[in-house]
Amino acid sequence: MSAERFATVLALFFDLDDTLCAYWEASKHGLRVAFERLGPPGKTPDEMIEHWARSFRSFSPSLKASDWYPAYLKTGEPTRTEQMRLALLEVGVDDPRRAGELSRCYMEERDRALRLFPDVTMVLDRLQERFRLGLITNGPADVQRQEIATLGLDGRFDPVLIEGELGFGKPHASVFEQAARLVACAPTQLLFVGNSYRHDIRPAIDAGWATAWVRRDSDVSPSSKGPEDRPDGSPEPTATIGSLRELLPLLGV
Ligand SMILES: [Mg+2]
Repeated sequence: MSAERFATVLALFFDLDDTLCAYWEASKHGLRVAFERLGPPGKTPDEMIEHWARSFRSFSPSLKASDWYPAYLKTGEPTRTEQMRLALLEVGVDDPRRAGELSRCYMEERDRALRLFPDVTMVLDRLQERFRLGLITNGPADVQRQEIATLGLDGRFDPVLIEGELGFGKPHASVFEQAARLVACAPTQLLFVGNSYRHDIRPAIDAGWATAWVRRDSDVSPSSKGPEDRPDGSPEPTATIGSLRELLPLLGV
C-alpha cells in the first residue's frame, strides 16, 4: 500500500536532527564533556546531565510562548545559557559566569560530535537523481545553519526552511504549506521524512503528504526514557523505517 502512495511523489522534505544526523547522541556527548570540564565541584557529569534534563523538561515546552522566543529564533545562545543556569541552580549554585562557560563548551563539543547517519550520503545521492530534495528543520537560525555546514550539507537541499528564519516552525501547518508552494507540488506529490511523530509526521499527514517515520534506538533525548511514540488513535504514517536506505525500494529507486 505504501509503495502505491509513494508512486506519485516528486519531492521529498527531510527533517535534520535525528533524521539525518544523530543529534541527541552529540548533545549527550557535549553535555558530558562540558560538565566534566566545567561542572560544579562535588557533582558528577551524570548527576549534572540529570539536572540539565530536568531544567530542559520544565523550560523547553513553554519556550515558544515565552519572551525568550524572539531571541531564540536568531541564536541558541541565550536559552542554552539560561538552561545551564537553571541546571546549576538545581544544585544550589548561582553562577551565571559558569553557566555561560558551560553553554559555550556544550555547544562546541556537540557540534564537533555531530555526524550524519552512515547511509545518508549514499541515499541522498541516489534520490537526488530523481526527486527534488528539501529540508525543514526547527531551531535557532544560527544553530541550524552551523549544523548544515558541519555536516557538509550546504547546497544539498533546495529549499531549506528553518524555524529561526521563518519565525515559526513545525508542527505549524504554514511550514508545510510554504514548502509545497516553494516546490510547486500538490500534497499528493510530497513526502516528509522525519523522526518526530508530533513535529514531523502528524502535521505532514494533516497536510495530505505521504510520510516516512524514521525510528532509531539512538533517538532518545537526555530528558526522555525512549523514542517518541505515536499517540493512541492518531493516524499512521505511510511507512515506518529504521534507516534512510529503506526509502529507496519504497520509492522504486
Ligand atoms: Mg528531528
